[in-house]
Amino acid sequence: MKGGALSSDVVAAAERTGLTAVTGTAGAVGMVGITLGGGYGPLTGRFGLAAVNPLGAEVVLADGSRVDTDAEHEPDLFWALRGGGGNFGVVTSARIRLHPPPAVATGTIPLAPGRRRLARHPQRRQRL
Ligand SMILES: Cc1cc2nc3c(=O)[nH]c(=O)nc-3n(C[C@H](O)[C@H](O)[C@H](O)COP(=O)(O)OP(=O)(O)OC[C@H]3O[C@@H](n4cnc5c(N)ncnc54)[C@H](O)[C@@H]3O)c2cc1C
Repeated sequence: MKGGALSSDVVAAAERTGLTAVTGTAGAVGMVGITLGGGYGPLTGRFGLAAVNPLGAEVVLADGSRVDTDAEHEPDLFWALRGGGGNFGVVTSARIRLHPPPAVATGTIPLAPGRRRLARHPQRRQRL
């Protein structure tokens, strides 16, 4: 992905391959911005923070030089990018790990039967 891609752009592109990316809850944030900052979202419990999912990045440093970084090349810079925010250079492109989307169950619980069921479990009712 390019450095200015929104997280919604990345999810839409990933969807075409049947995979998905770890993002936050809002598609309008920059994918690099959320990744460099940590990135907590609905898939974090399964696949970790967005910051643990980059595979590599192209970075323009303060002196104007361009560096390709990943676990093998400039590993300290790669480590620092993943959570260090925009402090280490401008990320002009990045490769991120995609994942098969987990099954998501959604639905509603009708209130009346739900209340009856909760009434049988007073501790759960208190937590709600
Ligand atoms: C409506 C909303 C919902 C949000 N929801 C979540 C959420 O669910 N989970 C979560 O973890 N966060 C969430 N955030 C926080 C969001 O992830 C951060 O604010 C993130 O840093 C936004 O990145 P940006 O690129 O859009 O913003 P910007 O303000 O442009 O950038 C933020 C920081 O990242 C740096 N940066 C951005 N792009 C680059 C680049 N290409 N190279 C180098 N540095 C760069 C900037 O220098 C800046 O320091 C939310 C924010 C908003 C506004």
